[in-house]
Formats: sequence, structure tokens, C-alpha cells
Amino acid sequence: MASEETFMRAPAPTPKRTIYTEAMEIFNFAADLIGLDKRVRLELEEPDYEHIFYVTAKLKDRLVPLLPEEAKSFADLPVTQVRNPDGLERLANGNLILNGRALLGSDVAIRHGHLRLPDGHVYQLVPGESQRFKAYRVQHNQARGPYKGGLRYHREVSLDLFKALAAEMTWKTAIAEVPFGGGKGGIQLDPREYGREELEAITLRFMYRLKSLIGPNIDIPAPDVGTNPEIMALLYRQFSDGERERHNLRGIVTGKDVRIGGSEGRGKATGQGVAFCIEDYYADRGESVKGKTFVLQGFGNVGSHAAIILGNMGARLLAVNDADGTIFNGDGIDVNALAAYVADPKNLKRSVIGFPGAQRIEKKDLWDVQADILVPAALGGEITADVAERLKVKLIAEGANGPTTPEADRVLQKRGIELIPDIIANAGGVTVSYYEWIQNKRMERWSEAEVDQRLERAMKRNYRIIRDISRNQPRKTEMHDSRPYCIGRTVDSRCAAMILALKRIEAHYLLEGFSQ
Ligand code: NAD
Repeated sequence: MASEETFMRAPAPTPKRTIYTEAMEIFNFAADLIGLDKRVRLELEEPDYEHIFYVTAKLKDRLVPLLPEEAKSFADLPVTQVRNPDGLERLANGNLILNGRALLGSDVAIRHGHLRLPDGHVYQLVPGESQRFKAYRVQHNQARGPYKGGLRYHREVSLDLFKALAAEMTWKTAIAEVPFGGGKGGIQLDPREYGREELEAITLRFMYRLKSLIGPNIDIPAPDVGTNPEIMALLYRQFSDGERERHNLRGIVTGKDVRIGGSEGRGKATGQGVAFCIEDYYADRGESVKGKTFVLQGFGNVGSHAAIILGNMGARLLAVNDADGTIFNGDGIDVNALAAYVADPKNLKRSVIGFPGAQRIEKKDLWDVQADILVPAALGGEITADVAERLKVKLIAEGANGPTTPEADRVLQKRGIELIPDIIANAGGVTVSYYEWIQNKRMERWSEAEVDQRLERAMKRNYRIIRDISRNQPRKTEMHDSRPYCIGRTVDSRCAAMILALKRIEAHYLLEGFSQ
């Protein structure tokens, strides 16, 4: 007979902590609290599909500058005149892409694969080779509608990261009450290291591989870090060209330029949504954004628009950190001048560094700047427990996805720093993406005022429901009805947002049941 010991279960191995397991902590917590249906929980705990694939492209010849030390042995190398300056494309890392016949001529002086250009620098000529890139698309859940989520071009991406970001999209689309599920993907590369035509080739090949996985009613990508409306235009063309019903396929991507079917107001939508939430946060307290100060991380699509809109509301930007460094001005940074500085084509890194209206500080000092609001609008995991201990702000509005670690969340709560969590704060982007998708389906064009008005209502309605869940204050007003979502106790705002998402998703499963 088996002893009692035989039947004792071995302790479950502690799962390895990853970006995904961290991101799912709040899901598990909220699911426990509301007693989420067990099978729904299993459906949501892992993505529907995880695609990993590879994209190849032929790169161009490029000139790579030598370091001053290395250049010494080429001291007598004569200067090669550039025949066609338009053919030289300078990248943020100092490399030059050779487009067309930039250097053709009898006076090209090449020694051991090196040449000197009129700028005085010696460059190594690196012949273009074919390269392979790793690409991803994670489709997390489609209970509420087609998978929806951005494409990220960044060096630090992984399946684990895209799983976390795709799940976030499932929660966010439910919170925004748009009929979509969640997805996310992208390519492992730094787009600043490739020329225009190279990025086009990589993007077209990416869509060539992606095409069998997505569609305007299946899975709809959009811009994210490192991608933009130009990339969306290429994806749209590659997906739709030659198709009989090409124009019915416009909704294959959102975040397009308004001239090719994009929506007015989509470019600024995520930053606008962040600003609407902050405005409503203060309105709820009988205060206004006017006169408040803020600190920003990331000055790309989300950060720059949030800064401009908050600036227009009368708030003052004190410091900004981006991938290349940090700037500070205690009197306030001129946001419009900064946006123009970053957008200048001569600013190859698209960085805030070197902006004349502010001084440079260390990144670590960003977190010590005293201000009312912090808007993280760069990458995930930036607000760690250490950072959270140091912060001298009263409110964090998460423009970025997953900027705060679970440990940091606990510190923020302990310190009484308020939070507008990412899945509501940055839901403006996907909300206007939905408007774009509807306009594409109906072949309509809405005005910017109409888009803004709808967005404001949607953001504030759902944010108010989240606040009510958090305070356990069920009520129905002209704008919103939080009664179906409050759970009989107070919870923190991140948990409240997750409860709203889970209740809306669970309803689909409970009402529709499960296909066999
Ligand atoms: P973007 O590529 O336009 O800008 C990214 C910004 O972050 C740049 O200023 C860059 O310099 C900065 N950055 C990159 N790495 C950094 C680092 N290590 N430290 C500090 N700064 C760094 O991207 P975006 O579209 O503005 O997206 C920013 C964040 O907002 C991301 O987390 C993204 O997932 C999220 N988001 C974007 C949208 C959208 O509509 N674009 C919607 C929802 C959420």
C-alpha cells in the first residue's frame, strides 16, 4: 500500500520571474478578488497565438566612420569628392548609407577599403550584405473583437515582452470599450541604424510574412516605439496592392497618415488621452492643470504630444529624459520650441539633448525633480522600487506601457503617490485607432473636433468608472455608470482598471460560452 507520503505533492517550482509574469501579477490579483471564472482565467493567462518568424533584407553599402585613433594611419589619404550628395544618407550613429551612385567618379581614393570625405573623416566602406531579423506577432485574445496592437521596432524586444504588451492591449481595448482584443509585435532592430530604403525593404518583407496572420477583421497593427505613419503606409501598401477589393482593406493598419485614410487626431491621440485623464484627475479634486508642473520621460509620439497639450492647458514642463540623455529647466521648458528642435531633420537622433532652452542633467537626477506630475512615456520597467522611493511628484500618469514594476507600485502606494495606470492613461491611441477603423469601413472622414470630442468623452467616462471602482462608489451619472463594476471594497487604481477590463471580457465568455 502506498504510504501517505507517496501522495504528497511536490512543492510547485517557483516560476521564473519574467516581464510577462510581472505584468500578469495584477491580472492574478484582480482575478482572485472578483473570483474570475476559472476557464476564462485559463483563456486569458496565456496568449491565443505566439508567432516568431524571420525577415531578410539586402542592405546597402555604407560608410562607417573610424575613431580618431584608427584614422591616424590614413593621414595622407586624399579627399574623395562626393558626386551626388543626395545619395549620401547620414544615420543617427554616424554611418552613411550609399544610395544610388553617390561616389561614382574617377577621383574616388580608396585605400584598403577606406576613404576620406570632405567632412575630414576617414570612413570604412562596408559592402551591403543580406541580413536576417527576428520578428514577432503575439495575438493574446480576441473575445471582444479582432486582435489589436502596435508594432515595435527596437533592439530590446523579445517574445516575453510582446506577450506582456499584447495582454496589456486586451485589457486596454476592454477598458476603452472598443470592439477589439489584444495583440503586439515588431522586429528586433534599431531603426536609427538603417537607411530609408533599407527600412522600407525590411518593412515590406515583414508584411509579406505577416500577411497570412492578420487582416482588417482579424488582427490590426498600429504604430508603437520606433514605428510611425510612414511605416504604416508601407504595411498598408504591401498588404493591399493588387487585391481586388483593395480599398476595403484600408483598416488593415491604423495610425496612417490622414491623406491615405488615417484619422484626424490619431497622431496626438495617446498624448491627448493622457492629458484628458490628468485634467479629469484634477477636476475631480476641484483643481485644474493650470499652474501644475510636470516631468517627462520620452519625447516621441506620446511624450511630445502629451507635453504640448499639457503645456496648452497651462502646465509647466521642468525636465525631460529620452534615450540619449536628460534636460532640465526650473523655469519651465518651452515645449513647442523643444518639439521643433526634436523634429528638425538635422537632429538625426530625434533627441532633446542639445536643446538650447535647458541644461543637461544626469538621468538619475530626473527622478529627484520636484513636480506635481510625472509622465513616463518611453519604455517599460523604468520606475523601479528605488526610483519610486526617490520620486518627488504627487501623481504619475502612465503614458508608456508597463513603466512601473510591481515592487515600485507597492512603494508608490506606501508613499501615497497617486497613479493613473497605463491601461486607461494611454488608451487614447487605440480609441482613435478604432475611430480610424470605422471611418475606413464606412469610407468616411471625421473632423478633428469630432474625434477629440468623442475621445474626451470615452476617456473620461471610463476613467471615472475606474475611480469609482477604486473608491467603491457605485453610481450612475449622465456620463457613466459604475454600478456593474464596483466590488464592495476599495482597491488601488491599477487593480480597479484591471477589474473593469476583466468584467467586460468575462461577460463575452459567460454570455457566448465556449465553442468546442
Ligand atoms: P516613440 O518611438 O515615438 O518615442 C519613444 C521615446 O522614448 C523617444 O523619445 C526615445 O528617445 C525614448 N526612449 C527610448 N528608449 C529610452 C530609454 N532607454 N530611456 C529613456 N527614454 C527612452 O514611441 P511612442 O509611440 O511615443 O511610445 C512611447 C511609449 O508609449 C511606449 O511604451 C509605447 O508602448 C506607449 N504607447 C504608445 C502608443 C502610441 O500610440 N504610439 C499608444 C499607447 C502606448
